Amino acid sequence: MKGFLSGAARRMAQSEALVRPISMAADMFMRGRGCLMTFHRGAPAKLWEQLPNRDFYLDTTFLDEFLGYLKKHDWEVVTIEEATRRSRNGRGRFVNFSIDDCYRDTYEDVVPLFRCHNVPVTLFVTTGIPDGTLPLWAAGLEDTLLNSDSIILESGVIRLPDFAAKQAAFYRIADRWDGPQAARSYATFCELNGIDMKAMHWKHAITWEMLEELRDDPLVEIGGHTVTHARISSLPPEGAFFELQGCRDRLIERLGIPARHFAFPYGRSGDCGARDFAIARDAGYASASTTRKGLVLEGQDPYSLPRCTINGSDRSVATMELHLSGMTGLAARMTGRV
Ligand SMILES: [Zn+2]
Repeated sequence: MKGFLSGAARRMAQSEALVRPISMAADMFMRGRGCLMTFHRGAPAKLWEQLPNRDFYLDTTFLDEFLGYLKKHDWEVVTIEEATRRSRNGRGRFVNFSIDDCYRDTYEDVVPLFRCHNVPVTLFVTTGIPDGTLPLWAAGLEDTLLNSDSIILESGVIRLPDFAAKQAAFYRIADRWDGPQAARSYATFCELNGIDMKAMHWKHAITWEMLEELRDDPLVEIGGHTVTHARISSLPPEGAFFELQGCRDRLIERLGIPARHFAFPYGRSGDCGARDFAIARDAGYASASTTRKGLVLEGQDPYSLPRCTINGSDRSVATMELHLSGMTGLAARMTGRV
């Protein structure tokens, strides 16, 4: 029998056997539980293997397997609206998937996959992306590395003979650019390497036209993720309020939706706190999500929802079960990584 199984199916069967006891124990001890999962971009397995920043992408071939696994094990995939409703009575087992920022692949690859499985998905949009005002420097850098044999930096030329060289260059350069100077560093890089910044932006950004189409899909829920992807805790109150309210106003104006839900960029405890949860309420949102790992249990505060970030390298059902059973949340709290 084993010989007839594909590599993917074999991997899944093995990981299922490993994690069944954990999930059965969680079922015994918890009446109901919800797990909110988030990621940024998606790429099919073949492309995923080549991407210099591939941890930022979910392998959509794996996501397809995982959505099948959830159905098989009676996990219901719901919207954030439904997740917050269920947290008031604490019954059932539910999962929500949210995509933060929103790039072109949200429209082209990821939402169609959820549609195939007939389950909902939440999009938390950074409005500076479809407005074309937020430089997508990491996407532009990665694209250039992926499609070049060498790049020019102010310090000289870097040769990129293979995947390892491209990945190492991505991490080294992104690390150096990260911060308020990123946009300027990226503009200089584009000039040196003859990159059309505008064309590169629209190669990766989601557009308002795409969002209009997605808005009309009953399986798609759209919420806010700031205007400029700022770290909210680092802003003065009026700046923080602008990021949340400005984003909501823009979504309402451009898409005519209620924009009831919000997700904090970065989302760890140092990135958003009590003041920011209150701002989310004042800005008119009905919920706010963090990226603090954990489960949604009965009585969960809707303005500090836990979410588990799924990275590109998390390509096993076993790792997902650790999120679904609350083990990763427990480990994060025990080690202070919240
Ligand atoms: Zn984000």
